[in-house]
Amino acid sequence: MRRLVFLGPPGAGKGTQAVLLAREQKLAHLSTGDMLRAAVAAQTPLGQEADGYIRAGRLVPDELVLRILKDRLRQPDAASGFVLDGFPRNRSQAEALERISPVDAVVSFEIPNEILVQRLSARRICPKCQSVYNVESRPPRIPGRCDLDGSELVQRPDDLPEAVATRLDVYAKATAPLLDYYRERSLLRPVNARGTPEEVALQIRALVHGTP
Ligand code: AMP
Repeated sequence: MRRLVFLGPPGAGKGTQAVLLAREQKLAHLSTGDMLRAAVAAQTPLGQEADGYIRAGRLVPDELVLRILKDRLRQPDAASGFVLDGFPRNRSQAEALERISPVDAVVSFEIPNEILVQRLSARRICPKCQSVYNVESRPPRIPGRCDLDGSELVQRPDDLPEAVATRLDVYAKATAPLLDYYRERSLLRPVNARGTPEEVALQIRALVHGTP
């Protein structure tokens, strides 16, 4: 299985697992959130348009996200396989994906909302290399600094409580219906996302390698 979607609510651990699996299986890690944040940081016209939606925790319009994703999929490293992290997020994106590049499986991250809120409020990221930390369960070696490049860690504006509430709501209304969409197509592979990153990684590896 070389074309995968990671589907789940914000804070479920999709990004952490996508990095691990992509490294191990030599897949491209395609995070539309990372692509959009890079466009915002670079102040491209697309980034400027997306910025307000991201800050508010709302979905960026499909047309913008599709544009950025299609460009990324054209790069050579994506040709031999990818992990899509954060896309699709609604039915029309799922239908667009079917046209652009059908996938082999959709890993769904199952986790209760209380845990998500705790995780998102403790999350800090490196603005330079996008590494993700958790001030409680996975703190950096030096408080407030990235282990890899020493940059000062930041809290994503959309990890603040008001935007988190909106994101969970958007997930429930727009994205969660994709669980049925992919179940009907026999592509859905649920994992229990409550465990440690190592425990979740083991489940995903078993799925990808086709072992029980
Ligand atoms: P993420 O890093 O996946 O949590 O995404 C952060 C934010 O980027 C989301 O709350 C949305 O505002 C935007 N975003 C990321 N991916 C998508 C997508 N597939 N469709 C629409 N908006 C997206």
